[in-house]
Amino acid sequence: MSQNENQPQDPQKPPVSGDAQAGAQYVAPKESATSPSPKADNEAPPKPEPEPMREIITPSNKEVIVVAEQVQGQVQTVTLELLGAGRDLANKLGGKLSCILLGHNVREAAQKLIQYGAECVYVADHPELENYRTLPFRRVITDLLQTFELPPHILLLGSTTTGRDLAPRIAAFFKTGLTADCTELDIGPYEHTNKADPDKLGLYPGCLYAIRPSFGESLKARILGPWNNPQMATTRPGVMVPLQPDTNRTGEIREIPVNLKPEDFRLEIAEIVREAQSAVNLDEADVIVAGGFGVGGPEGFELLKQLADCFENGVIGASRKVVDAGWIPYQYQIGQTGKTVRPKVYIACGISGAIQHKVGMHKASLIIAINKDADAPIFQVAHHGIVGDVTQVVPELIRQLKAGQQSGNKVPPQEKSLV
Ligand SMILES: Cc1cc2nc3c(=O)[nH]c(=O)nc-3n(C[C@H](O)[C@H](O)[C@H](O)COP(=O)(O)OP(=O)(O)OC[C@H]3O[C@@H](n4cnc5c(N)ncnc54)[C@H](O)[C@@H]3O)c2cc1C
Repeated sequence: MSQNENQPQDPQKPPVSGDAQAGAQYVAPKESATSPSPKADNEAPPKPEPEPMREIITPSNKEVIVVAEQVQGQVQTVTLELLGAGRDLANKLGGKLSCILLGHNVREAAQKLIQYGAECVYVADHPELENYRTLPFRRVITDLLQTFELPPHILLLGSTTTGRDLAPRIAAFFKTGLTADCTELDIGPYEHTNKADPDKLGLYPGCLYAIRPSFGESLKARILGPWNNPQMATTRPGVMVPLQPDTNRTGEIREIPVNLKPEDFRLEIAEIVREAQSAVNLDEADVIVAGGFGVGGPEGFELLKQLADCFENGVIGASRKVVDAGWIPYQYQIGQTGKTVRPKVYIACGISGAIQHKVGMHKASLIIAINKDADAPIFQVAHHGIVGDVTQVVPELIRQLKAGQQSGNKVPPQEKSLV
């Protein structure tokens, strides 16, 4: 179910009796404390006190678990970010933060996860897990979680190619909810008042609030799945903030069994090609010069590259429309179905500013837009706008930047200067 994030929440929680971890707890509504009194003349009858909602706690061990991603033993940044978000959720729940790590020769990676906040790392180290495959990974994770006396409260994965593939398999196995592409995560109560579900009426404390933009970002939806645990969500790389690593943090590393079945090997990996991905580093760029359909064709990106090269650590990016047109590879795409970026400077060239593009770049410190249409939506998020033709404005920018670099120094990116 989803709620508007801006809806006020009822802060009143009825008391819980019994052990919150021992299973679903149903607290009967309290008897009204108001005793009937003789009615005075002209006095309205006292209003009955509203009955407190029964509190329902779905069974869980309060654990928050992050499914780690590693490539050749290197923990992926999205995992460290998820540990940062998971730490906050675990603190709010009063539970522990754990990680599941699958791979081969990954014990060093397990130590890194502890440095970034995991209290316990479940490690499945096996040659067949060296490279990601859906069915073996799904098998090991669901086998592990089935050994738990009570399910973990929350399971988090990255909105990466791997996470998007694996998360629905796990959610379907446990018949639990999954919210993809969250931008915020939180913990709070949920009051279910829909009489169509009489068995479910009640107040559910400690729910995962999986928050993400919806309906073209006109609504920030808070999506909840209080009926079953683990409550699951994926978040995109670059959205959550990792903790500072601390080599003094200690944690437990638990080896877990790997019992793969022949039917888990229906897919065979023929070849792994990594070079194309590593050539584009939008995540760490200080300046991104992004091109849209308005640059006119693949050759337009040559010009944008020259502009990007005027800056230290400048790279080019793109809108989806030009990626779909085959002008530039997918790795450059910024937006809802591409990368989320936060550079110091973002120069949008010939990009209209569709909502799906803006969600991926609106957190840049300084946004400069060049568009020949003065009413283009990109100007709504731009700190500086230039109404003009990219084929004229960009060469002029390059000329002026180069003229300014008398000694050959590149322009250091400036921090935000709102106008
Ligand atoms: C589910 C879904 C997911 C999507 N995900 C993404 C995503 O991740 N990223 C993304 O970018 N889009 C995404 N889109 C597509 C998005 O809706 C837009 O279609 C796309 O962003 C438009 O790209 P554009 O701005 O380059 O092209 P256009 O919308 O065609 O805009 C071109 C702009 O260039 C300007 N222009 C034209 N010629 C010139 C010139 N010579 N000089 C200056 N300006 C000029 C025009 O005025 C116009 O504003 C998604 C769509 C859907 C439905």
